[in-house]
Amino acid sequence: MWKISKEKCLRCGACVGVCPFLALELSEQGIVFFKEKCTLCGICEKVCPVGAIKVSRNDSKKS
Ligand code: SF4
Ligand code: SF4
Repeated sequence: MWKISKEKCLRCGACVGVCPFLALELSEQGIVFFKEKCTLCGICEKVCPVGAIKVSRNDSKKS
């Protein structure tokens, strides 16, 4: 699952630049996410300066 907090997002574009699968784009409205391209690699989550992105590979597993 991939989630973005639109309230937190600064639209800096850092996540767009690091996504190896081009699953993110920056538009006037904010980040556009292409679910079918995303592999849930988690790189975008790591580079976001404000922690606006949350990536989890297994939703049913709670730790
Ligand atoms: S989790 Fe990986 S593939 Fe998905 S949007 Fe982020 S960087 Fe791109
Ligand atoms: S890196 Fe974070 S703050 Fe920057 S555009 Fe992406 S989600 Fe928004």
